[in-house]
Amino acid sequence: MKLHPGDIGTKGGLLTDRDARVLNDAGEVIEGLYCVGNNSASVMGPAYPGAGSTLGPAMTFAYRAIAAIKGQPIPLERGDLLERAA
Ligand SMILES: Cc1cc2nc3c(=O)[nH]c(=O)nc-3n(C[C@H](O)[C@H](O)[C@H](O)COP(=O)(O)OP(=O)(O)OC[C@H]3O[C@@H](n4cnc5c(N)ncnc54)[C@H](O)[C@@H]3O)c2cc1C
Repeated sequence: MKLHPGDIGTKGGLLTDRDARVLNDAGEVIEGLYCVGNNSASVMGPAYPGAGSTLGPAMTFAYRAIAAIKGQPIPLERGDLLERAA
């Protein structure tokens, strides 16, 4: 296995869905397996658009994962938040 040390994030890792559930090669959810942070594939793809591009997704997807594990998955679209921001 080749190792490529880095000091901020990784560009590889396990592919996950919107609730941080790990997907297999066929794109199907592996039940009970979640992954966030540098062990997961970056939601930013091959780019690092700016500060927070690793910690932000790590916290966000961890939050979503816990909600899903609790049986209360968070909808993707929060219309109420969008209205509040307008
Ligand atoms: C100098 C620096 C500046 C950064 N600045 C930013 C920034 O401004 N914004 C941003 O978004 N990101 C930043 N990052 C990146 C961000 O800190 C990391 O991407 C993030 O901390 C990764 O979180 P993680 O939980 O995936 O891994 P980690 O935080 O590395 O956590 C992994 C944990 O697992 C533990 N561990 C390892 N092996 C084992 C084992 N065998 N058994 C048990 N435990 C084990 C480790 O001790 C560690 O506590 C920065 C990183 C560095 C180094």
